[in-house]
Amino acid sequence: MSRSAEAPTIPSAAVAPERPYLLERVDDAAIVQLYADGFRELPLRDKVLVWHLTRAAIAGRDIFYDQRYADALDMRDVLEGILTHARDVEATTLAEVQRYTKLFWLNTGPYNNLTARKFVLACPCEAFAAAAHAAARQGARFPTREHETLDALLDRLAPAFFDPDVDPMVTCKTPPPEHDILTASCNNLYEGVSLADVHDVAQPVSPARAERSPEAQRDTFRERHPLNSRLLKQDGRLVEEVYRVGGRFGASIEAIVEHLKAAIPYASEPMANALRALVRFYETGEDADREQYDIAWVQDTASPVDTINGFIEVYLDARGVKGAWEAIVWYVNREKTFQIRTIADHAQWFEDRLPCDPRFRKTTAHGVTAAAIDVVIETGDSGPVTPVGINLPNDQGIRERYGSKSVSLANVHEAYDKSTLPELRTEFSWTPEEAARAVAWNAFASELTTNLHEVIGHGSGQVDATLNGNPHLALKEQYSTLEEARADLVALYFLPDPKLVELGLVPAEHHEDIVLAEYEGYTRNVLVQLRRVRAGTHIEEDHMRNRQLIIRWLMAHTTAIDVRTRNGKTFYVMTDARAFRDGVGRLLGEVQRIKGEGDYAAARALVESYGVHFDAALRDEVVARVDRLQLPSYTGFVMPTLEPVVDAAGAIVDVTVAYPLDFTAQMLEYSAATRDLRRA
Ligand SMILES: [Zn+2]
Repeated sequence: MSRSAEAPTIPSAAVAPERPYLLERVDDAAIVQLYADGFRELPLRDKVLVWHLTRAAIAGRDIFYDQRYADALDMRDVLEGILTHARDVEATTLAEVQRYTKLFWLNTGPYNNLTARKFVLACPCEAFAAAAHAAARQGARFPTREHETLDALLDRLAPAFFDPDVDPMVTCKTPPPEHDILTASCNNLYEGVSLADVHDVAQPVSPARAERSPEAQRDTFRERHPLNSRLLKQDGRLVEEVYRVGGRFGASIEAIVEHLKAAIPYASEPMANALRALVRFYETGEDADREQYDIAWVQDTASPVDTINGFIEVYLDARGVKGAWEAIVWYVNREKTFQIRTIADHAQWFEDRLPCDPRFRKTTAHGVTAAAIDVVIETGDSGPVTPVGINLPNDQGIRERYGSKSVSLANVHEAYDKSTLPELRTEFSWTPEEAARAVAWNAFASELTTNLHEVIGHGSGQVDATLNGNPHLALKEQYSTLEEARADLVALYFLPDPKLVELGLVPAEHHEDIVLAEYEGYTRNVLVQLRRVRAGTHIEEDHMRNRQLIIRWLMAHTTAIDVRTRNGKTFYVMTDARAFRDGVGRLLGEVQRIKGEGDYAAARALVESYGVHFDAALRDEVVARVDRLQLPSYTGFVMPTLEPVVDAAGAIVDVTVAYPLDFTAQMLEYSAATRDLRRA
């Protein structure tokens, strides 16, 4: 719910980069090195803390592979077995295995993380088998089951590697007629479970509902671990497999816990409290302990180092209930914190002016703690493809009672800025003035709107008491899109406000250009983002849906946007910033009402009408234009590498940071680190 996931549209720096950012291209993806410049300056204690937390981040990485697809870890083992024993593998086959494996690592399995669609190996099945046998002769070990030959293993995985029609989508919130959102989604959060099976499971229990609905009373199964379990049907009954020590992925989680415990002595007291609560949650798996952790985490407002480690975001689950595992470790970037902290300090001012029914405004903004951060590692759901801003925890009840923490990923913004090609703006700008504004201001505007999105977007508003702080249960598969739209709309709405000048966030003389650059860029993006959905005619990813929704709604209800063509090329042209902002305010009022009341029918109508479907011919045109310019559709990052320096007594006396500039080497290193922990 809580992150801005799309690469901001940022021009490349005018000066030549003095160090490499863009490392390589794989199909329509870019691979970029991330730098953590401030790490060297941290006190030793913080460095050691970060070191242990990065080990915890790597320890859990495999959980997310398994959540994305049941066969993903076996597939990864096969691919890595071939790549690391490639001496006798035929060259064209090897090149294809390398291409496919890089995409597999970038997307954590065989599904594109923006389109949710499967991608496949483009070499003959027999050539792949020959490559595996050649690797086996060089000593590669493959994940064969007991009494399973290598050929039997390859046969078992062949549909996963080669057939795009077997398990075609990882998450599908707009299912074909014969399916529902669970049976059409091929992730591993459920096994043999249909939507009818979980109907009314984990609904908010209010007395009124129980009286009204005999069906809910009859229902004997209640999800006890909604966020951190896998749900399967066994002998006609629903069973929860809980992720915890001694449970599902118990060995991985035990390793995480060990590293977290090693980190605790180096943490500040509030952070140590949060880490202890996290350890307890991993040990019990109980939702009450998850709540205690969320509270302890959000109450740690001042530590210079912080981490997220656990089952957090629910985008992967079409129901929007199950958490995908992820880890991020960061330190605060003090220089860049001014902007986001200033917004947070004045959150109530914005809250009081939200253009919506006052009953959906919070009367006292529980502090949003905000910081600009540099990430040191991101794994699972947040790496190698990363968000640019995060606002947590997701638990609406805790947000309303304890507030939330917002972070802007400063070094990720920087790496995007330094690696993005300027043609991405100019190709789709209607006038040279628009293109110039984009080059001058998009990076600045994008960081600012991300901060507004996280802090006063996700951080704002309250919902009707009857929802028990759980609007996502009422809005179901529409929730994430609606919540992202809400956060974007808040940012777009307040961007032109003179208050931003008063707070010192934007220079007065450039305010108008900054607003224009953002509105124009936001409008263009709805056209440009179609390059990411190269198959089909519907959008699955929530952030892409919300952007489509906002612009197409504005097209239908305001005069702010023109669709124009020139030389056979289509342009979305923002022509009236005032009309744009008025429209944004109107739509925000409605979106806030839908969330506040949990109005599922209205949410669905809005998303389905404006956010999901697009014209294939228009997409083909956009793809042709970006391919001609060789513009990437998405970016994955190579993380910094930390290395402890140990004295004769075994104590860590320093931790060095290095930049591997090699995606393959890093992915192989991460995989090797957890090979012994798997399938416990
Ligand atoms: Zn967001």
